[in-house]
Amino acid sequence: MPVYEYRCTACGSDFSYLKLKAADEPACPKCESKKVEKKISSFSCSGGSGSGGGLGHSGSC
Ligand SMILES: [Zn+2]
Repeated sequence: MPVYEYRCTACGSDFSYLKLKAADEPACPKCESKKVEKKISSFSCSGGSGSGGGLGHSGSC
């Protein structure tokens, strides 16, 4: 099961979230805001292309 790292943009706290369903939206455990952004920790190529569907594991750095 994929655990993703998120950062709350409202209060700035980091947290990990176990995403059980694709439609799940993580909420900040502290302020319960849903203004969170996913942190890509496993691989960090240049620049975060946050938009776009899905995690494409194509391409090599
Ligand atoms: Zn928060």
